[in-house]
Amino acid sequence: MSHQLTFAVHVVVTCGLLAVPTSPARSQSSGLQAVGPVCYKLDFDQAIAEIKSADPTLADMIDTLTAHGESPTIVRYGGGANPKTLSKRSTGVSAVQWDPDVGVQLPNRFHDNVCTDGYAEFVHELAHAYLFVRHSVDFTSDASTNFVSRFEISATQMENTYRLAKGLCPRLVYGSRFLPDWALPPPDKWCDIFAVRPCQQRPVSRCTALGGGCAGPLCTCPAPGFLGSWLCCNGHCILESDWQNCGSCGNVCKPPHFCGRNSSGKATCCLPGDPTCHS
Ligand SMILES: [Zn+2]
Repeated sequence: MSHQLTFAVHVVVTCGLLAVPTSPARSQSSGLQAVGPVCYKLDFDQAIAEIKSADPTLADMIDTLTAHGESPTIVRYGGGANPKTLSKRSTGVSAVQWDPDVGVQLPNRFHDNVCTDGYAEFVHELAHAYLFVRHSVDFTSDASTNFVSRFEISATQMENTYRLAKGLCPRLVYGSRFLPDWALPPPDKWCDIFAVRPCQQRPVSRCTALGGGCAGPLCTCPAPGFLGSWLCCNGHCILESDWQNCGSCGNVCKPPHFCGRNSSGKATCCLPGDPTCHS
């Protein structure tokens, strides 16, 4: 189709290993954890719970990673970026870059026309980390793998476990090659990869819904002065003129008060008709 779609597809399949320089550093504490603001941690918790409940194999993977001291730190680089596993081959996975909005903000598809899914792609990256902590990493490929890396086949199979449990189309291709027969899901589960069908839209993540921008691994509230002034309340970006958080978090304006501005421009609960207040 268009050049743009071709580009998007190429972006999507770039799930590889990247050398990590110094940052983001591996967390000193053990277990799988997300770093960033509260909204991202809540998105992470929700994804982990849904992945665990999808299938016992996935629950086992998450439990292993949760308990393991060398599990990766999960970071968000925003903008619907494709997930990536950041690792050094010698030391294992140090971080997974995961944006819950992959597949929401960008109409990404793989080479087989299967839609990206924020949680399925997270499963894929977590599977790479799982292979590392279990010391069962195998980067080899040959005719019996249709020249797809065994490391990627394993992660894609785990991703397909999630996809099938959730009624999503399974991936049949990695990169531009079909998975070998032994790694494909049963044919009755395949989707017609030539069919034109819309991608299922997930609701956007909390950080995105809150209007948060992204700076490195952190999503931030919109800058002050941009479409009003904002408060960060429990990790949510809230307009400071919000009647339940008027000028400060939790400051509720009780009727007949409304959230207006005093003479110095500060958001404050006002009575109608108060000449020192304006809306
Ligand atoms: Zn991969």
